[in-house]
Amino acid sequence: MANNDPNLVLEARIKKGVLRIGRKVEVNAFCSKHLVTVSNPHIGCPQCAAERPGVRDLFGE
Ligand SMILES: [Zn+2]
Repeated sequence: MANNDPNLVLEARIKKGVLRIGRKVEVNAFCSKHLVTVSNPHIGCPQCAAERPGVRDLFGE
């Protein structure tokens, strides 16, 4: 599981293209804690990742 950020808010919007073709789903990610837009929802908020306990453990304290 790449994204376990509890503060991450995902918002999916279906955009209708011209003449009903080219319809696509646009996903916006937003961190409710840091109030920043997350460019990559799969990675999550970089600030949350930096604060998350356990990250230090991964790098051997
Ligand atoms: Zn955050």
